[in-house]
Amino acid sequence: MNKKTFTLGIFGGGQLGKFLVQSAKKLNIRTFVFTDSVDSPAIYYCDDFIISSYENKKKLDFFIKNIDLATFEFENIPFKTLDYVEKKINVSPKPTIIKILQDRLKEKTFLNSIGIKTTEFYYLKKVDKKKLSNNFFPALVKTIRLGYDGKGQVFFKNKNDFLKYSFKNKEYIIEKLINFKKEISVVISRYKEKSVSFDAFENLHKHQILQKSHVPANISPKLNIQAKEIAKKIADKLNYTGTMCVEFFVTKKNELLVNEIAPRVHNSGHLTMNAHNVSQFENHIRAVCNLKLKKPKRIHKAIMYNILGNDIKKYRSKEIAMKEFFYDYGKKEIKNKRKMGHLTKIF
Ligand code: ADP
Ligand code: MG
Repeated sequence: MNKKTFTLGIFGGGQLGKFLVQSAKKLNIRTFVFTDSVDSPAIYYCDDFIISSYENKKKLDFFIKNIDLATFEFENIPFKTLDYVEKKINVSPKPTIIKILQDRLKEKTFLNSIGIKTTEFYYLKKVDKKKLSNNFFPALVKTIRLGYDGKGQVFFKNKNDFLKYSFKNKEYIIEKLINFKKEISVVISRYKEKSVSFDAFENLHKHQILQKSHVPANISPKLNIQAKEIAKKIADKLNYTGTMCVEFFVTKKNELLVNEIAPRVHNSGHLTMNAHNVSQFENHIRAVCNLKLKKPKRIHKAIMYNILGNDIKKYRSKEIAMKEFFYDYGKKEIKNKRKMGHLTKIF
């Protein structure tokens, strides 16, 4: 394979795409980004890009002709698009995996089927609402598809409120609210039956959006190993290629419940760019481009803060200290709660 002309196609042009493109550059791999938004940070860093709807066959054909293989930075790229591309060129991770993980019901059913615990949940269409026990509440109703950063979620304090609510004609699951001790995540990269993972990150969410992550997580070594083993089991069962993230709840009894799987690089792994010998992004590029994975080693303790909406303006004029790394995604439009940048501090 001639690395100079070898081109990786990436669907999605957000900050995850931007960091993937930068890692590819470091490995001398050309990148071609396909995004449906003009306001895409990755387009300023890749070698080529197309801005078009993901359904545009003509543009997709042109894209396919000019890349050697494809990956994505966001799991909500339409399955049909990925499947269309996969028929002509290799896509990693496989679209069939995305089909499961794009759908919260399929995802949780799959996890339970391989013996991995999740929160208690029901498919709203199939459950007799009146028969749900009062003890099931408080609960969260989540759309089955297209949710991220808490989008598509409704909280119900009690059964009464739930029964009064009229759901639009969408597909939902209802999930018991967990009074968890903390949240952690494991980022794992897998290529040809071999996998490497980072030790768990500890995450704090506010209004269902990640606020900060830090390493090392304040958990026992045993729990860290358990979480990594669960992530490995999932990646192996899916025969996964690339980087993915498993989000967990740690219950008060120190039990691990999987909240969700992100079949891509993940916000909680941003600190790997500064705290580790290899980043989650580089290992994703390595996995999908047939390069040997690097075993992650932590060099520093670190904490990462997400910068949302208008807060980015403060950071833009702020003095950044020596052990701080400020990332401005360069998004043109500032929107409330939109991820605009992040800051990592190493110790
Ligand atoms: P998204 O796809 O939007 O990230 P998640 O299901 O991961 O959706 O929910 C986002 C956050 O909301 C979680 O990280 C957690 O903090 C909170 N959350 C979600 N489900 C539950 C639950 N069943 N119990 C307690 N907190 C929850
Ligand atoms: Mg989540």
